Amino acid sequence: MSDVRVRFAPSPTGPLHMGGVRTALFNYLFARKHRGTFILRIEDTDQTRFVPGAEDYIIEALKWCGISPDEGSGFGDGPFAPYRQSERKEIYKTYSEKLVDSGWAYYAFDTPEELNDIRSKYEAEKNTFIYNHTTRQNLKNSLTLSADEVIAKMENGEPYVVRFRMPENETVTINDIVRGEVSFNSGDLDDKILFKSDGLPTYHLANVVDDYLMQISHVIRGEEWLPSLPLHALLYRALGWEDKRPDFAHLPLILKPVGQGKLSKRDGDKMGFPVFPLRWNDPKTGEIASGYREDGYLPEAFINMLALLGWNPGTDQEIFSLEELSNLFTLERVGKSGSKFDPEKTKWFNHQYLVNLDNHKLAGLYLPFLKEKGISVGEEKLAYICGLVKERATFVQDLWDQSSFFFAAPESYDEKTVRKRWKEQTPGLMKQLIQVLENVDVFDAEQSEEAVKNWITENELGMGAIMNAFRLAIVGEGKGPHMFDIIAVIGKEETIRRLNKAIEVLP
Ligand code: GLU
Repeated sequence: MSDVRVRFAPSPTGPLHMGGVRTALFNYLFARKHRGTFILRIEDTDQTRFVPGAEDYIIEALKWCGISPDEGSGFGDGPFAPYRQSERKEIYKTYSEKLVDSGWAYYAFDTPEELNDIRSKYEAEKNTFIYNHTTRQNLKNSLTLSADEVIAKMENGEPYVVRFRMPENETVTINDIVRGEVSFNSGDLDDKILFKSDGLPTYHLANVVDDYLMQISHVIRGEEWLPSLPLHALLYRALGWEDKRPDFAHLPLILKPVGQGKLSKRDGDKMGFPVFPLRWNDPKTGEIASGYREDGYLPEAFINMLALLGWNPGTDQEIFSLEELSNLFTLERVGKSGSKFDPEKTKWFNHQYLVNLDNHKLAGLYLPFLKEKGISVGEEKLAYICGLVKERATFVQDLWDQSSFFFAAPESYDEKTVRKRWKEQTPGLMKQLIQVLENVDVFDAEQSEEAVKNWITENELGMGAIMNAFRLAIVGEGKGPHMFDIIAVIGKEETIRRLNKAIEVLP
């Protein structure tokens, strides 16, 4: 194990968006590449946003994607347990007090109502209220109240928060691995709340304290956290941890397929693709959101697609196993600008993985669909069928459309194909074909093909005329793999039965 320790730190406020999965993936890949440790930390200090089931969802999603953390909630304890912030409550208060004692933070007693009033007044004058060096001197906090007043208020049980005392005018410069040097002026920022009246820290304090305590070496997270970076950097300084500050990498956004802006659930609903890895049943609204897993995507395809949203290998290669990605991944090859999500390309990835999947494995995925239809079929045979038709499928569930004729005779015949392929002389020819097939001893693809083709050439019957009608009788339409492969699977008896039925039913 190297000193590389990275974490994925979701808040359990709902299902994991695919942007979140990509963040987890990049953390995972970075850890694997550097033989480091990948941690899952659940950041659940905002109780108002807590959603039951969300944490289990996150854990299941990471497992499905094959990017399980080495340490963390749901993945066995590591040396820094617990990994759920609500179970680490006691830890944060000490640091919040420390910041007040050193003058980096202060107590604020302004009620939400009071702050709302002030905000409205500012808005009425077309100004924006910021709680910082421009206003804090006129507000109710331990910088304006006397020590006695502060103590009295606390003893009275008045609710208060701890705010960070953002420096008045300092340029905070940080080197982000993806974006290069980024600078912020502290004077534009607000005195963020670090500790709330409910006795819990906010995201900012808990996140920085835990990254430090869990010895995180690199913070790899979404671009939406970039504005928090100066505060986090200053917190490291305020807590005396600057030499232990992790390196930061802010990942570009995943953008809408069309138009501008961040990919949202609405885009998925409009265009018919999932934005979540797994189906999500919203416990509050009962609404069900679709998931990649349930829609038939293979986790390897989903992950491959995600890896290329923001990262590029520097070559034209598009198909990568998780292991290859783990060897190749570098943060230096993560781009600064957002990447457009492409639902069609996502399907293309799935098709590639499906085609490359071992036939037995594919059969194992297909089997439940067949069972549901009451069809029982041997594993060997099913694997063989999968091999014959997989090229024509994007999803496992497409396999039925491409292979139903292996399991049951057609119940009807495609009208257009009938008009085109079933001519007056066809029934007679099909009768002859039955004779030819009857005489094939070993009814495999090669022998029957040879017999049928010889018969066609010797009698100058025309390959198309025979083979298209033959297909119609066996499949019910003009599609499907090589005819002789099909009949070898269904067998001589069934082939002849289907031919006889077509002769009987078709005009
Ligand atoms: N809890 C934050 C989230 O929900 C973590 C952000 C970070 O990685 O610092 O994404």
